[in-house]
Amino acid sequence: QFLKIYDSLDDGAKKLLYPLGMNFVKPSDLKKENTRLLCTRCYNLVHHNKEILEWQETLTTDKSFLKFLKTIDNAVVVTVIDLFDFPGSLIKDIDNLIGRQHPHILVANKADLVPSLPSVKQWVIDNIQRHKLETIDSVHLVSSKKNWNIDELAFTISRHRRVNDNVYLVGCTNVGKSALINSLLKKCSVGGWKHRVTSSIVPGTTVNMHGLPMSVFGDELGPYSMNDQSGVSNQYLFDTPGIVNEDALTHLLNKDELDMVQPKLEINPVTYRLHQGQSMCFGGLGRIDYLSGTHPIYLTTYTNARIHITSTHNADIFSQKLTQGQQTILQPPVGSPERLESFPPLATVVDSLPLAGKLNKVAVADIVFSGIGWASVCGGFKEANIRLKSAGGRGVYVRNN
Ligand code: GDP
Repeated sequence: QFLKIYDSLDDGAKKLLYPLGMNFVKPSDLKKENTRLLCTRCYNLVHHNKEILEWQETLTTDKSFLKFLKTIDNAVVVTVIDLFDFPGSLIKDIDNLIGRQHPHILVANKADLVPSLPSVKQWVIDNIQRHKLETIDSVHLVSSKKNWNIDELAFTISRHRRVNDNVYLVGCTNVGKSALINSLLKKCSVGGWKHRVTSSIVPGTTVNMHGLPMSVFGDELGPYSMNDQSGVSNQYLFDTPGIVNEDALTHLLNKDELDMVQPKLEINPVTYRLHQGQSMCFGGLGRIDYLSGTHPIYLTTYTNARIHITSTHNADIFSQKLTQGQQTILQPPVGSPERLESFPPLATVVDSLPLAGKLNKVAVADIVFSGIGWASVCGGFKEANIRLKSAGGRGVYVRNN
């Protein structure tokens, strides 16, 4: 039935389907979902979050393909980061990779997950400065899921675009690039939802460079020229393959474990008191040990991971049990003894981090476990010394305030 419809389309309409990947789908691989047809892979991603290994093999940690942006001059670059995992989701050397000649918009996505912190936009801008990103022209906090601030973003893109410019969305896996495109389509598209792209909890589902003709956005993303023969615009919005941030702790997790830690609703901050000799465990993924200090310290956590406070001695015993394949209260990891045994054990990342408390209770530092969440160390103490551990020694960042 699909082929019949496909054959009846004129060349222009077929070309519209081409960048959506339709030409790669065998009829036997198509599944019907309400009014639209999906390939089996997209269907499984949308409905079952199935991890499809042969596609996972195409994941890349290699950012060099972005270097082609240096060689062109008709681009607007939109870098997407996950507000919940900043700085873990930032492509560190993005300035050098893409060159400095393009308008560069930073989109901090998943704003719906972060409680309305007083100055979260300022916090993002501070982080940009801290990472010495000098090419960013404008910053937008959005939620693709809730369609927050998408109009403003579309307006900024249209303001920067010249008639021959393509738009390139770049970012790490799972930051929500596909969801952002869908949100832009929902807001702007003359054809509406029928151009949806597949968004999934499984990282790295955008396996190729997908281009959507600018014409499907109407004139919401700015001007474009039309190809008279195909009836499609000559300019595209490209969704580029996500770069795997190997450092992110989420890359150690399987689908069930991701479900346990990835927040779906706004995160509830919870404050805990930690005494000297105690540890705060983020499941089996990260740990803060309070080594020495005169007063208790207060940590406000922003995470979906299961927090467990215990003595550092007990925390060590739990960690040891995990390496022996025994399930503990520290989850994830979860599963068979083989799964637990093969999970990277906790390794020290920062041996000793001295913190100087402030007299008032403002946060003095944030300890970030990439993709999992963070803990803000509140002031109100004199001096404290902490140690930081994470699974495989990856994905720990300290933001001093
Ligand atoms: P991509 O790999 O960058 O294309 O990311 P996807 O668009 O596939 O999204 C990755 C995951 O993040 C999916 O589970 C999405 O539902 C989720 N996601 C994307 N945008 C948002 C958002 O604005 N808020 C929330 N809470 N989740 C989002």
